[in-house]
Amino acid sequence: MTEPKKKSGRPVGAKTAERQPVEVRYDPCKRCGCTLKPINSQLVHEGAASGENENGKYSYFWIWAADCAKCGRKLKVYQYDYLPQEQATA
Ligand SMILES: [Zn+2]
Repeated sequence: MTEPKKKSGRPVGAKTAERQPVEVRYDPCKRCGCTLKPINSQLVHEGAASGENENGKYSYFWIWAADCAKCGRKLKVYQYDYLPQEQATA
């Protein structure tokens, strides 16, 4: 699995990094390789969760079913709501 492309955002360690933005991530389409944002997103699951990935700890997540913007293949989209920085390091 390849590393998802980083979106432009706040630099690490910026003064305003009190709260990380909610991150949306999705894999390239397995059929056509399209990396555009999937369309027709429909929420299939959400919940509070204390988990962690390479970008930090998150407290809530959403999983969306979506369609590839090019070929319409079904894709999954993952969204994470990260904890504020000070809590994440506590
Ligand atoms: Zn596709």
